[in-house]
Amino acid sequence: MFDFIRCSHPGCNEFAVTKYTTCFQHAENPESLQQEAAAKLLEKGIVGSYCLTHGEFSNLDLSKSSLYACKFSHGTFQDIDFSDSYIQLCFFEFSTFINCTFHEVTSKYSVFAGSEFRECSFTGSDILHSNFSGITASHTVFDDSDLYYTNFSSSKLSHVSFKDCNLKKADFYLSERQEVSFKYSNFEEALFFREN
Ligand SMILES: [Zn+2]
Repeated sequence: MFDFIRCSHPGCNEFAVTKYTTCFQHAENPESLQQEAAAKLLEKGIVGSYCLTHGEFSNLDLSKSSLYACKFSHGTFQDIDFSDSYIQLCFFEFSTFINCTFHEVTSKYSVFAGSEFRECSFTGSDILHSNFSGITASHTVFDDSDLYYTNFSSSKLSHVSFKDCNLKKADFYLSERQEVSFKYSNFEEALFFREN
């Protein structure tokens, strides 16, 4: 797990970037930190316990990445290819993903809660026990995916496709759905209501 070291800037409660004393926003040279992070990700080795929040990443081929227990919360990710990546216990909450590809990713116990997804594709993925609660997603595709035990409660979904997915124990409680397709999926095994 990433270190829970806080930023040294007075009054800042954000987590410090791994191996640095401040958070990304209070870094002396955030630009170089970001390049360092991108370079580390592009090595395609196992990235474990790495923390950099509020980062802005664009136009990167991060396919076949292996990310374990990393924290990239409040990040912005545009035109990033995460295809065939393995993402376990990673925190991407309150982030923005624009035109990102997650084709055939495996996500286990990862947290994307409160994030926004625009024109993203998760086709053919195994997204298990992951947290997408409170997300806003538009023009985004989860087709042919296993979403076992993944939480989409309180999400706002517009033009989102869940065709031919395993939705067993997927949770859509209090989700708002506009132009959402569950065609060929076992939506009867998903949760849409709570029993009281
Ligand atoms: Zn800070």
